[in-house]
Amino acid sequence: MGKEEQLQVLKDLVAFNTVDANERDIADYLSQLLKKHGIENEIVDQFDNRSNLVAHIGSSSEKVLAFAGHEDTVHENNLADWTHDPFIPFVEDGKIYGRGVTDMKSGLAAQVIALIELKEEHAELSGQLRFLATISEELTQGGANFLSKRGDVDDVDAIVIGEPTGQRQNNQNHHSIVYAHKGALIYTVKSIGKAAHSSTPELGIDAIDNLINYRQEEKQYFAKQTSVDDILGKTIYTPDIFEGGKQVNSIPDFAYQKVMVRTIPQLNNNQIIADLQELIDSFNQKDGYNLELEINFSGYPVKSDADSSLVKATQDASDAILGTRLDLKALSMGTDASQFKARKEDADVIILGPGNDTAHQTDEYVDLESFYSFIRLYKQIAINYLK
Ligand SMILES: [Zn+2]
Repeated sequence: MGKEEQLQVLKDLVAFNTVDANERDIADYLSQLLKKHGIENEIVDQFDNRSNLVAHIGSSSEKVLAFAGHEDTVHENNLADWTHDPFIPFVEDGKIYGRGVTDMKSGLAAQVIALIELKEEHAELSGQLRFLATISEELTQGGANFLSKRGDVDDVDAIVIGEPTGQRQNNQNHHSIVYAHKGALIYTVKSIGKAAHSSTPELGIDAIDNLINYRQEEKQYFAKQTSVDDILGKTIYTPDIFEGGKQVNSIPDFAYQKVMVRTIPQLNNNQIIADLQELIDSFNQKDGYNLELEINFSGYPVKSDADSSLVKATQDASDAILGTRLDLKALSMGTDASQFKARKEDADVIILGPGNDTAHQTDEYVDLESFYSFIRLYKQIAINYLK
């Protein structure tokens, strides 16, 4: 594919408004593009006009490497703050501007183009290169969760997520390979009591009191967790919201708290959920308690082996293509990797993509050279890894 055609793919993707919706447009577009180049693919519908896409080249009888990216973007915020319409891609001085261009339509475009070019160049791959395009990463990671549950990563050995990893430094884009980030768990604990007139409180059950008693033990549970990951640090527990009661002359019959936990592999999401459920069950055996646990979001912690063959394949590729050996780092942001890891914990996962730190900002952009070089980089990673 010539550079003009490569750029056109990116422009086409940016022109679809996929602010937490309409990913079907991108899935359709990618499907047509892949078909045109003789690559099998499947549109995976999830909600109305919201579709994931799965494609592959090569055979899954050997190693499987997946490239993954999301089709949605965050909201453009205040339209008037943009220099140009965020949904009409604008190229100037070697940069392309538009909503989602950095996070992460340039990564998505680079991945799909790499797949197409490897196919057209009859690259020798011992194994399969799979491509996963997901919906709703920004708000729920719901597409990655859906594909994982469908089994699309069950046989995957390694995953490269094309999220932006560039940091602008002195007019240059410095990239690192992100191989670890914390997970996130958001949950609600509801306490159901019994309303009664405040003149006869003995007839009611105070939902707030019950929740406070539970909360004390929940705090102790997290205080006892002393595991520290050498890269990610410790589990961070913040019970941020607590509400209950409706009016001053009525015993509160309902209270709830909402909690955020940033998780590490040593105490993963499912372990915490099981422990909390056990604690809640023990409270519910006591007189008057009726507590419920509701999981609002669960994204697994991600930590891959820094010496994995995926990291080596990637560093060797960066030597050859970028002329520099990329270093490794951990980040605090969450990605679809959390959903893939929850399903396939032993898969090696890295995050590496052409975008920069203008993600989610007004006048978000990507350097065209970075976009073009990432196409070559992705191809080389696949060739190195599937050797
Ligand atoms: Zn993103």
